[in-house]
Amino acid sequence: MDALLTSTDFAAAGDCMYRQIAELYPICRSITGEGFRETLRCLRGRIPLDIHEIPTGTQVFDWTVPREWNVRDAWVKSQAGEKVIDFRRSNLHLVNYSVPIHRKMSLADLRDHLHTLPDAPERIPYRTSYYKESWGFCIAADELARLQDGEYEVCIDTTLEEGALTYGEYYLPGRRSDEVLLSCHACHPSLCNDNLSGIALVAKLAELLQAASLEYSYRFLFIPGTIGAITWLAINELQASQIRHGLVVACVGDSGKYYYKRSRRGNAEIDRAVVHALSHSGKEFEVREFSPYGYDERQFCSPGFNLAVGSLTRTPHGEFPQYHTSADNLDLVNPQALAGSLEMYLQVLRILESNARFQNQNPCCEPQLGRRGLYRSLGGLPDAGQLEMAMLWVLNLSDGQHSLLDIAERSQLPFELVHRATASLVEHELLTECTEPSLHNIEQEIAT
Ligand SMILES: [Zn+2]
Repeated sequence: MDALLTSTDFAAAGDCMYRQIAELYPICRSITGEGFRETLRCLRGRIPLDIHEIPTGTQVFDWTVPREWNVRDAWVKSQAGEKVIDFRRSNLHLVNYSVPIHRKMSLADLRDHLHTLPDAPERIPYRTSYYKESWGFCIAADELARLQDGEYEVCIDTTLEEGALTYGEYYLPGRRSDEVLLSCHACHPSLCNDNLSGIALVAKLAELLQAASLEYSYRFLFIPGTIGAITWLAINELQASQIRHGLVVACVGDSGKYYYKRSRRGNAEIDRAVVHALSHSGKEFEVREFSPYGYDERQFCSPGFNLAVGSLTRTPHGEFPQYHTSADNLDLVNPQALAGSLEMYLQVLRILESNARFQNQNPCCEPQLGRRGLYRSLGGLPDAGQLEMAMLWVLNLSDGQHSLLDIAERSQLPFELVHRATASLVEHELLTECTEPSLHNIEQEIAT
């Protein structure tokens, strides 16, 4: 993982993620249907994704997999035959999961089915109606103001039929069967930050980690929001117990500061790893407590699972003005922000991957570091003083109970430095790695 952080060309990775977003942007996705499949097929060019199809009607805990929704076309025509609303110009125009309809009606009647944003009159809103049969169009308020009274022909050529809920999954085995979960929702149509940035980042992480030597096994999920997470958990109830750490990935492409939403557990290793990485990043960030509203952490952190899954984003959902509107487009996200988010995620994963416990082999008073060349070898390095401090902390706290993250937190030194000091001390046979779980970890397991 260290090698990955130093060898990755983040600028190029940012460009690559941005291009991926641009490629997926035109596709009309929903919680089911061809748009979701097409998205996964695009990703399969980069990572060996398994595509799962769960039939309509499958009971998943308290929910049922819905009928599959597909769109051929949707428009509203004026009496003059002009398409005044056209799904082909923007897939946001159609309320997602609209039932089919073809009829003529007055503008007054049509208005009951039109959604606008009066406060942002140039934007098209994004609306869905997954679980209530209805139909509608979304339109910029400015456009609506230009519509003349009269009769309009309304056509929604959609199908809502028995089919399947589709999701993508990639399992990348590491040395341990314990898993790290990286999950994103992939059910929004042409929306960049809320949806596509998460997809692009998870796909890029999967692509990069394939080439790394990994301690943990990794599970990457591309699922429809809410129903996808519920479905995955229902099908994989036992497998879910392998998840040691997880992050829900979304809204990682805007230039805003970082936000971390803690897992329901509040102070799980993932929570501490993210807060530590953010604290030493030099970047602006905010940490929030868990709440049962948001993305799929709601399901992963439901009491029956209570997984250690938090969510690391930039500006959170609902807090940027372009959220769920046509302005969440290719201008809102940028390669630099995506690259920064990618690096932050890798910093977090590096901590998880390397967070071991060690036993000091010379615990009675300090070992003589100078005699072993551990002081001399540091001469000239700009952070030599800090590295010496890190060695002293690691030696002092490596009693088999404290992890490297414990030591980094207590010493307020960056994890990377603590890890580097540890490697040096192991090389000089002053430390050995503990393979037994610590009492502290066992207590945590019992508590959860
Ligand atoms: Zn959303």
